[in-house]
Amino acid sequence: MATAVKTKKYVFSFGPNGTDGDASLRDLLGGKGANLAEMTRIGLPVPAGFTIPTTVCTYYYDHDRTYPPELRGLVDAAMTKVEQEMGTTFGDPKNPLLVSCRSGARESMPGMMDTVLNIGLNDTTVRALAEASHNERFAYDSFRRFVQMYGDVVLDMKPKDKEDVDPFEALLDAKKKVAGVQYDSELQAGHLKELVTEFKAAIKKQTGEDFPEDPMDQLWGAISAVFESWMNDRAIVYRRDYGIPSEWGTATSVQAMVFGNLGDDCATGVALTRDVALGTPGMNGDYLINAQGEDVVAGIRRPQRIEESLQSAMPEAYAQLLDIGQKLELHYKDVQDLEFTIQRGKVWMLQTRNAKRTGFAAVRIAVDLVNEGLISKTEALTARRIPADDLNQLLRPIYDPAAKRRAQKEGRLLAQGINAGPGAASGQICLHAADAEEAWRNDPHVELILVRRETSPEDLRGMRVAKGILTAFGGASSHAALVSRQMGKSCVVGCSAMDIDYHAGTVTFDDKVLHAGDFISIDGFTGEVFLEQIEERPSEVIRVLIQKDLKPEQSEIYPRYAQLMSWVDEVRRLGVRTNADEPEQASEAIAFGAEGIGLCRTEHMFFHHIDEFREMILADSLEGREQALAKLLPFQREDFAGLFRAMQGRPVTIRLLDPPLHEFLPQAAQEQQQLAKRLGTSVESIARRVEELEELNPMLGHRGCRVGIVYPEITRMQARAIIEAACQVQQEGVDVRPEIMVPLVGFANEFIDQERIIRQTAAEVFKEQGGAIDFQVGTMIEVPRATVCADQIAAHAEFFSFGTNDLTQTTLGISRDDYAPFITHFRENDIIPNDPFQTIDRDGVGELMRTGVQRGRKSRADLKIGICGEHGGDPQSVMFCHQLGLNYVSCSPYRVPIARLAAAQAVIAEEKTPS
Ligand code: ADP
Ligand code: MG
Ligand code: MG
Repeated sequence: MATAVKTKKYVFSFGPNGTDGDASLRDLLGGKGANLAEMTRIGLPVPAGFTIPTTVCTYYYDHDRTYPPELRGLVDAAMTKVEQEMGTTFGDPKNPLLVSCRSGARESMPGMMDTVLNIGLNDTTVRALAEASHNERFAYDSFRRFVQMYGDVVLDMKPKDKEDVDPFEALLDAKKKVAGVQYDSELQAGHLKELVTEFKAAIKKQTGEDFPEDPMDQLWGAISAVFESWMNDRAIVYRRDYGIPSEWGTATSVQAMVFGNLGDDCATGVALTRDVALGTPGMNGDYLINAQGEDVVAGIRRPQRIEESLQSAMPEAYAQLLDIGQKLELHYKDVQDLEFTIQRGKVWMLQTRNAKRTGFAAVRIAVDLVNEGLISKTEALTARRIPADDLNQLLRPIYDPAAKRRAQKEGRLLAQGINAGPGAASGQICLHAADAEEAWRNDPHVELILVRRETSPEDLRGMRVAKGILTAFGGASSHAALVSRQMGKSCVVGCSAMDIDYHAGTVTFDDKVLHAGDFISIDGFTGEVFLEQIEERPSEVIRVLIQKDLKPEQSEIYPRYAQLMSWVDEVRRLGVRTNADEPEQASEAIAFGAEGIGLCRTEHMFFHHIDEFREMILADSLEGREQALAKLLPFQREDFAGLFRAMQGRPVTIRLLDPPLHEFLPQAAQEQQQLAKRLGTSVESIARRVEELEELNPMLGHRGCRVGIVYPEITRMQARAIIEAACQVQQEGVDVRPEIMVPLVGFANEFIDQERIIRQTAAEVFKEQGGAIDFQVGTMIEVPRATVCADQIAAHAEFFSFGTNDLTQTTLGISRDDYAPFITHFRENDIIPNDPFQTIDRDGVGELMRTGVQRGRKSRADLKIGICGEHGGDPQSVMFCHQLGLNYVSCSPYRVPIARLAAAQAVIAEEKTPS
């Protein structure tokens, strides 16, 4: 691959007379170019053309936006080859070749970059095209599209914000009004001819330059525009969101045009070889008769559904398309997203790529493809097939059917669109992406439904902050559908009963007029749109696993989920535990596959008995504290016993008290007064203690083991509660495996101090009870010093658990509570690649972890090591933990399935790239 990228080959042809590239060259040719070559190779009908590789894009930006000197000659030669294959000549006044110029990066970036169609048309060639096709309307339709695209894309006349109007769209609308028609397909040749003249005048007026008549100038203008589009704002945003490096660059494919706008035996369309919302088999998609390329996705006319009407409208073309779809699925062993054009009854392939899908569809399709014998189990588990995070969607709420029926009875069902992204979403109507962004900046918890006629790549940021997306036009392959599926958002498209007035800020359904800010609910499973909010209900997986009110066989998705997860567990080596403080959480986590508790925070328990705990903090003598602690002991013991029972012999890691004491005291005067009354002390003494305990920087203050060291009686009480509970539950016949964890250790002596108290207490309890249980004492590794001195600490500690929240705070010197104002700016300006509190900062925090693992295991070879920070449920971080050789990750119950899958993916990735 590295050699391929370094190659100086600057043009790759594809066509019946020879194809240079293939699917393996996507780094060079982009996904689109590589697959055009591959489809040509496997004998599918693809118009001839050539691809200028990504290396030229890189060269272009490295050399002040200029090209390698030899490129012109190479392009001329490749054009000649295309001319020979098509039997037409570029710019020829009698028999002109037209081409498209298409962007395409290594990873598909749908709609983010530009494409120009019908290049080669001018006042002369348009007449030749009219004569050759015996269709003047077609020729001028193509010409007006070309001038418009050239103006928008190459001459940068596209509207910049929501207030701007596209001059070409305005002229087109005016023309339709004059002609008294609704759709551009109804305009006559004469209208289109006039439009061409008007469009050219608009270009002259806005740019001061004439529309270029020379086809070669047009071609180079388009090539440069495509390379330029790699650096447009929306492409940059998209790359950041999906972690695509800007060094990759885009390729440019130049391809002979085929025409879907020649008449009623012509069409253009997009198709999916299976449903990508739910994963059900069967080709589906959108097509438009007598139209060209962009029309389908742009939502200008409402497209027709392939699965509903193409067979009757164009039986031969339909058969060709089905056959092509099957060949492609077999060849690529995955669901394909196709772009095609039907020219006079013949299907031409213009693009294929692995289809984007919802988490639902990803699971169903991967499992089905294994069961169909197309792919192996390990292949099904790869991150490419099922991004681990997508499992989230299977756990997401849906609308309660009863609540929906009620809403329908109340007349709240507004309309029905196409179900494009599963999940239930209720929220406030928002009509502009920019408004959504602003609302979100003011309140990150705001719940919005972005409602648009259609979406375009400019809306990306707004879509990201919306809870759901609803559009009036477009089908299952429209931009809105595609992007929302990828973002895992609920989405309903093609809701044609809806009338949007952006100026008035209203959305009208028949006689109901809604305003921006009104609540609606969309059901991405069914396509229904409801007025106001609707009660949500758990997903089928949750109902089978957690609520147990649905049998596995009654569910469509659960059996496939279960099959997938059984493969996951065959492959992964990393353990997965959960962070849980209550028996109910623990049981849920077990249902999701957790193998133990990796973090039980004991302070949550104190909040349930806050008065006793406050009494302990307020006591001014050891006796006073011990008296208060004695009251707390039975509560703690019962809580731990509950956890041990729920975990049924699985390991339970219990962290001793971690937060600073002042967090438990009331700050407000009124609350202090009430507390004084309840405890029978004076307000002054409480206020004084609050003041005493106040800290300037609590994150670095008197917390963690530092509290247990100064107040050993707290550690003593907690250790006693744990060991007594363990003894009690063991006597009930349940196996127990407590692991007592000391927080925030930096010095080995801190650990030694606490360990001594814990072991002494345990010995006392065993003596009192005349028995013993196995338990371990270990520590959190959450300050940099602990990672560096891990060998000294591991000489005493039996296990480590990386507390990566604190470790990230203390390593980066960034407070998680204070980073909001600058983190977004940092991310948008590529200062740091990820939010370090979501994904482990491998170079910094990650290296400290590596040091901790190495030094820790140097002094204790069998040291058990886990992680219990938020990162334990982040797929990238889980994979990193696998690479570090940790024994387990621990995360919140609902992320357990995700962590399991990520752990399996880590093994698969390792096998694919042996180090
Ligand atoms: P995008 O990446 O935005 O999908 P494409 O390069 O795929 O852009 O072009 C968009 C559409 O333009 C295609 O789906 C196809 O319908 C049409 N198109 C592109 N090239 C040609 C061509 N040579 N002949 C006919 N239609 C074309
Ligand atoms: Mg395309
Ligand atoms: Mg911590």
